[in-house]
Amino acid sequence: MKKGSHKYIFVIGGVMSGVGKGIAVSSIGKILQGRGFRVNAVKVDPYLNVDAGTMNPTEHGEVFVLSSGLECDQDMGNYERFMELPLGPDDYVTSGMVYRYVIEKERNLGYKGKCVEAMPHIIDEITRRFKKAAEASGSDVSIIEIGGTVGDYQNIMFIEAARVLNLKNPDDVIFVIVSYLPVPGTLGEMKTRPTQTAVRMLNSYGVQPDIIIARSAVPLDQKRKEKIAISCNVYADNVISAPDIESVYDVPLNFEKDKMGDLLLKTLKLKTRVKKDGLGPWRSFVSRIKSSVEEVNIAIIGKYFDTGDFILSDAYVSVIEAVKYSAYKVGKKPKLVWLNAKDFESGSKSVSELKQYDGVIVPGGFGESGIEGKLKVIQYARENKIPYFGLCYGMQLMVVEYARNILGLKDANTTEIDPATPYPIIDIMPDQKKNLEEGKYGATMRLGSYKAVLKQKTIAREAYFADEITERHRHRYEVNPAYVAKIEEAGLVFSGTSPDNVLMEIAELPRVIHPFFLGTQFHPEFLARPLTPHPLFTEFIKAAVENSTINKKKKE
Ligand code: GLN
Repeated sequence: MKKGSHKYIFVIGGVMSGVGKGIAVSSIGKILQGRGFRVNAVKVDPYLNVDAGTMNPTEHGEVFVLSSGLECDQDMGNYERFMELPLGPDDYVTSGMVYRYVIEKERNLGYKGKCVEAMPHIIDEITRRFKKAAEASGSDVSIIEIGGTVGDYQNIMFIEAARVLNLKNPDDVIFVIVSYLPVPGTLGEMKTRPTQTAVRMLNSYGVQPDIIIARSAVPLDQKRKEKIAISCNVYADNVISAPDIESVYDVPLNFEKDKMGDLLLKTLKLKTRVKKDGLGPWRSFVSRIKSSVEEVNIAIIGKYFDTGDFILSDAYVSVIEAVKYSAYKVGKKPKLVWLNAKDFESGSKSVSELKQYDGVIVPGGFGESGIEGKLKVIQYARENKIPYFGLCYGMQLMVVEYARNILGLKDANTTEIDPATPYPIIDIMPDQKKNLEEGKYGATMRLGSYKAVLKQKTIAREAYFADEITERHRHRYEVNPAYVAKIEEAGLVFSGTSPDNVLMEIAELPRVIHPFFLGTQFHPEFLARPLTPHPLFTEFIKAAVENSTINKKKKE
């Protein structure tokens, strides 16, 4: 693409949040990739946190980690999964980052004595970041999601930056609003007024949307399309119907039913670069989802579930998606159940209930609550040969359980929970200890991609079919090197270690002892993709399927 013609698509929410803006962005990216374009996706989070690392997952959902180690919003995970694309550290922008940069620059006399103001300095800094993200990725088109909804106080600066960018490059910038059309039960009719109001509000900022994505429970009829078109100043063809559907992976294909790809190219003044349908592999993936009927039952034992009267699985979205991809790969329908670790801890649920599941996952976590419950679950899975997959905390606790019950080290623990334990099986490394003593919590964990080497003839080595791997991390504590030899003597194998052999990356029991009892210090779920499922998740699912077959035979 010739210089200066980089394209930007700004995606803004109207009416209310939570209607799938992130999936819309991911799907737009997928469609453009299918037409032969290189894309990058940027998430703008208007909060003042510098990154998502310090936020509570129950309230904000999963913290997704990039290769670079940047801790971001879970939407970044959706982008990476749909577009099978590693995003860079410039692809995430928060108000915290922007303000911090501008204030530090001011302190260093970077503005040469000028009065530093929101306009132009904050706006310029936002635009600089958008351009930098585009350059760093080498993409043709940037899709930029502005978090929040039109009318929020917090995102005004970002919409303003987008407006100015459009003013300077009118041929290269378009706006998409993802709106919501309610169908109130008492009326039984779809209402367009909230969308009209949202678009008017956007107009009042000097921005006219080019495309309106109309999210609703049901498809939009032609009459409503036309009504929105005339009142919101767009063509009826620029209103895309986006009804609720069973699987988010259907969204790009559904958009295409309303000719989203052609519309995007026309609005961006681009010509397709491919002759045939570039979404072929995606279509096969989606049809595999539909043709997988036989279930594989997986229990996820977590604690970031309860928000008032609702159970939210948002905190584990990457884990859930990783399980799905591997299940579909082996032709099974994933059935996931969330169990609260605290129920096992209090005894209100018995671990023997786990018998009904084909496999059990203990995902990442922090702090004390639910820990003894998780340890009970792990012991039960180990003793009853239920496939077990431990992710980060789930691996650390698997090693603690082994130390307590096989090595007989009573009260063995992680020093995260019990700093005075006689057996600190999981311990904090000296540099991390210093961070905590100095109260430095933000972006100081062991974060992002690290290499690990794999041991021959282990489940891990067979699954990856490689001697060396790179995986993403997010933790402070590690298996204590002082106990490694003892634990290995007792039969647990550290099948993956850091290249210098100091940090334990994967623990497993040999297959002759247990069909799948494996934990990773890293987070494999961050690298699972629809078309390329993660090898360890696939191995786990295969063991779970095998277990379910055995279970069924036993029942017969
Ligand atoms: N709390 C543990 C640690 O900090 C595990 C973190 C995690 O599961 N992501 O090391």
